Amino acid sequence: MNHDLVKPFESCCLCPRACRVNRSAEGVEARRGMCGETHQLRVAHVGAHFGEEPPISGDRGSGTVFFTGCPLRCAFCQNIQISQGKVGSVLTPDGLVARIETMIQAQSVHNVNFVTPDHFFPHVFRVVDLLRAKGHTLPFVYNLSGYQSAHLLRKAERYADIYLPDFKYADPRLAAKLSRCLDYPTVALEAIALMASQKGFLDTCGVEGGPAVATKGLLVRHLILPGFVENSMEALTTLFIEFGPKLPISLMSQYQPVVHHRVPSLNRLISEREFQTVYHHGLELGFEHLFVQFPERAAGPGCPSPFVPDFEKAEPFEGNQRTPS
Ligand code: SF4
Repeated sequence: MNHDLVKPFESCCLCPRACRVNRSAEGVEARRGMCGETHQLRVAHVGAHFGEEPPISGDRGSGTVFFTGCPLRCAFCQNIQISQGKVGSVLTPDGLVARIETMIQAQSVHNVNFVTPDHFFPHVFRVVDLLRAKGHTLPFVYNLSGYQSAHLLRKAERYADIYLPDFKYADPRLAAKLSRCLDYPTVALEAIALMASQKGFLDTCGVEGGPAVATKGLLVRHLILPGFVENSMEALTTLFIEFGPKLPISLMSQYQPVVHHRVPSLNRLISEREFQTVYHHGLELGFEHLFVQFPERAAGPGCPSPFVPDFEKAEPFEGNQRTPS
């Protein structure tokens, strides 16, 4: 493999975990950091997805690429089969380009959407270079945890068009408890500020005559967790203070337990009251571009959420045509 592609994995600092393990060694020497991956690119799914926000999914879907592994490994992960499991296959960057081209041709997706790509950033940048060299002009979306290093985001700037970061926690103690990263709020706010400075806010929001499907910009997501409404309210307040009312925000209520948790509230869905409390706080703050996934559309008791995929299936999001409004 190209040495320039392998070098960043030799003492890995591709995310703020900065494990400094050698992910590029071969055989028994190969090491994995908190993301659980060596330098080999592993992909769980490539295909059109209709569960993103309307300006991202459009009517033809967002061309998602789901990687395996994850640096954060949150206790409440909805994609545990791929973030901490064994689902997925090893691909070269050229192999992934071929899969993406097949998806573009077959499904006419609006964009190419890299989901949790941080720990494979060098490969992803190569894939973007290869696709552009072949004449593809679709926007490249980076679907991120918010826990990104500034130095990597500076490198990502020329390979990214749209950033979709989470802002999961305003409360560092909760970040430490559920994701083992006390510094999440500070790191994520710095990362989101850098993303905003690079791309501005999503170009579909508040621009007269702007595109119906996004081509550029930033949209921040927040998943409401059952039992942690105060964290959600503080997260919205913090984002409002830092970025103002024009920041596009997506409020997600899709949480569904996929394993049994030691934190009792994580074993249930969010309640209507919890959702309404957070939603009204967002409205009262005055966010002008608030995308909302209402709980009744996300899931109901005994009804599996259409937003929780099953990566054991050929079509992990089978039947999911519903989007936040
Ligand atoms: S990408 Fe993985 S190995 Fe590298 S610093 Fe992050 S968690 Fe550690």
